[in-house]
Amino acid sequence: MLPFPRFSFEAPDTVAEVVRLATLPGAMLLSGGTDLLPSVKHRLFQPDVLVSTRRLRELHGYREGADGGLTLGAGMRLSELSRNADVRMRFPALAAAAATVATPTIQRMGTLGGNLMLDTRCMYYNQPAGWRAALGGCLKCEGTVCHVAPKGAGCYAAHSADTVPVLYLLGAVACFATTSGDLRIPVAELYGDDGRTWLRSPRGALLVTVDIPAAKAPIVYRKLRQRGAIDYGLVLTAVTREAAGFRAVISAVGPRPIEVSGATAEALVDAAMAVVQPLATHQQAVPWRRKMVKVELMRAVSGL
Ligand SMILES: Cc1cc2nc3c(=O)[nH]c(=O)nc-3n(C[C@H](O)[C@H](O)[C@H](O)COP(=O)(O)OP(=O)(O)OC[C@H]3O[C@@H](n4cnc5c(N)ncnc54)[C@H](O)[C@@H]3O)c2cc1C
Ligand code: SF4
Repeated sequence: MLPFPRFSFEAPDTVAEVVRLATLPGAMLLSGGTDLLPSVKHRLFQPDVLVSTRRLRELHGYREGADGGLTLGAGMRLSELSRNADVRMRFPALAAAAATVATPTIQRMGTLGGNLMLDTRCMYYNQPAGWRAALGGCLKCEGTVCHVAPKGAGCYAAHSADTVPVLYLLGAVACFATTSGDLRIPVAELYGDDGRTWLRSPRGALLVTVDIPAAKAPIVYRKLRQRGAIDYGLVLTAVTREAAGFRAVISAVGPRPIEVSGATAEALVDAAMAVVQPLATHQQAVPWRRKMVKVELMRAVSGL
């Protein structure tokens, strides 16, 4: 059992106070803790204070959006998302994606907000401190070299959040509270190209809601993973068909989800193969993962 380092814990009941505390040096936001707490045990983060979102009523539940969509509270549990009748009826692919996260127990703790803000993952990074120290750390944590691409200056840790490819295709918008006011960032623009600085929201910004407009067309979500539970995805694929053809978002192959489109299924696959290049961030062979991008896209298209 890995011990926790020392930190203090705050659970204010106003958004303003949570944001104020979360922006202080050494502070981090905590929701379900299913990702953050293991990472703290692994000493990937050493916060002085964890600021809980659990007492904020603004983050709970959901309401009708203006145009037939839904505004989901960032504090909704993944299990609520996958079971909620309104979500299942309007955004079945989102409910299905939430149901693929980890295990039912983790889905009962993990939140939608924590999923959107999930750290990027790499087999050289998501390890206990002693394991990492044996390699001298890496660019994302403690070290000076990337073991995946030793000649490069970037980090390629993979964006692995299951709800994001579907939210991206749906045109969802992440709504934050910050110390300088409210901020709306489309999910399609929330993520950057480096696995160390993958979020474009300001530090300490609190994700309050996720606004999803009414769905225009069905979406199929697929998750390729080693086992049928617990495991993060090796390739995540969400695909929809629009007037001009197919549009897809592919994730778990780099620091940010990648959008591709094509007039036909074959054109969609060609577009993906031109830009998607998985790297050795996972234990599975890179050529196999790249091949599976094509296979997963074709499977998703045939499910539409
Ligand atoms: C064994 C295991 C397997 C897992 N498998 C998967 C998987 O297959 N797919 C997957 O997507 N995830 C997986 N996870 C990760 C995690 O369970 C989910 O991503 C979950 O949705 C995270 O939500 P949380 O509320 O627990 O986040 P937390 O752990 O509380 O926080 C995660 C991050 O988000 C930030 N954060 C949390 N809430 C907010 C907010 N409201 N505003 C701003 N920042 C916030 C935190 O500061 C932290 O950086 C797995 C975790 C475990 C332990
Ligand atoms: S991609 Fe490189 S820098 Fe990033 S976590 Fe993996 S080994 Fe570290």
